[in-house]
Amino acid sequence: MIPYYDLEQFRNLFLKRRKGNQLDNKILTTARQVIDDIRSNGDKALAAYVKRFDGIIPESWEVTEREREQAWSQVPKEVIESLQAAAGNIRNFHKKQLQNTRFMDMTEDVISGQLYRPIERVGLYVPGGTASYPSTVLMNAIPAALAGVNQLFMATPVRNSQEISPVLAVAADIAGVNKIYKVGGIQAIAALAYGTESIPFVDKIVGPGNAYVAAAKSLVFGDVGIDMIAGPSEVAIIADDYAIPSYVAADLIAQAEHDENARAFLFTTSSQLAEAVVKQLNEQCSSLPRRNIAEKSLADKGAVIVVKDIDEAFALVNQLAPEHLEIQTKEPLQLLSKVKNAGSVFLGNYTPEALGDYFAGPNHVLPTSGTARFSSGLSVDDFLTKTTFLYYSSQALESAAGHITNIAEVEKLEGHSRAVKQRFRKGQKINERK
Ligand code: NAD
Repeated sequence: MIPYYDLEQFRNLFLKRRKGNQLDNKILTTARQVIDDIRSNGDKALAAYVKRFDGIIPESWEVTEREREQAWSQVPKEVIESLQAAAGNIRNFHKKQLQNTRFMDMTEDVISGQLYRPIERVGLYVPGGTASYPSTVLMNAIPAALAGVNQLFMATPVRNSQEISPVLAVAADIAGVNKIYKVGGIQAIAALAYGTESIPFVDKIVGPGNAYVAAAKSLVFGDVGIDMIAGPSEVAIIADDYAIPSYVAADLIAQAEHDENARAFLFTTSSQLAEAVVKQLNEQCSSLPRRNIAEKSLADKGAVIVVKDIDEAFALVNQLAPEHLEIQTKEPLQLLSKVKNAGSVFLGNYTPEALGDYFAGPNHVLPTSGTARFSSGLSVDDFLTKTTFLYYSSQALESAAGHITNIAEVEKLEGHSRAVKQRFRKGQKINERK
């Protein structure tokens, strides 16, 4: 079961700077070949790889309007209602992230500011290999739609049935996805990045996936934007005597059941609580459908650390920069100011990560593997470009001219200097400068 570590052991095992991205070289080589072939040969190559990796060739690449309509009758009403309620919360939260054109200076002589424009075309990858994830559709597509993305395309693999999971089609409708394509893996990323006769190219690709999808995203980055290459999911829980052991254990398990590499850490000021949580982990895991995965993840990647005080817990957690941070203490809100690096924070005994994963509003696409030190979760900003703009009157430029030419000349870019001087040649009056 979950091991105890002291501070030094935890630092050595989990806080040493990790080595770059962990993408597998063999997978990268396969991905490179598939991408090159699809970029050169379009649909013909696409069909060959779908057949090879997924065992079928869909009758049509695009999910038809009729299929999308029919999906609504195949999903239980209560699931549809829950997806709609979650979508409402996600929309409300992300709407408040939107920004309008901003002016930084606005005088008679100087105007400057920033325009915000939606990315024109976005591709959303939704995994479909072993399970279907409607929450992935909502979390990725809703911020894109709110940002004003005009063409939002989704790709997800199909298998023998030739049909995508109906709940994904319903979630896509709720979230505002324009078109859905029945293709997954490397071939989906290649098609979205470079376009084929049947699948349009996009400007940015978002969404999670397995190692093949991650490798393909890393290779097309630069030609298109990508959101991130996500590592294994992780949670850190800071708890004191006021935490409830069964709740803490349930949240650690919710993380650990993702996969064997998922990481769940408990930092606590109370050794009594630690003991009670370990006991609860054993009890709760015994009836979990994904027991084997959760137990392996907790044993190999999990940790319990008893700290001397809350500040010591935050020092470790801020170095760890976890994807999710739960604070289950007496006065959790008062501790928010101590958070420096974390993807998303869940405060109090009644705010489990699962609430944020599915329902509450903040995005569940978050930086993993310590990348919260320099990056943030998905937001409407990921679907907007920012373009700065500037206006100077002749008087304003004339008063800045000396500084500009000084810097240009020190950089030995005489042309830059002349571009300013040209406008103020001796004897030339302002109103002659046309
Ligand atoms: P997937 O859609 O990512 O991958 C399936 C595709 O992989 C197949 O269509 C196939 O084309 C390709 N593939 C499989 N084996 C291959 C091989 N040997 N060579 C070439 N291509 C191959 O679905 P999945 O496999 O179920 O993986 C989903 C992943 O996404 C999981 O790791 C899951 O944890 C993760 N996930 C993450 C989040 C998140 O928010 N971070 C959400 C949902 C899922």
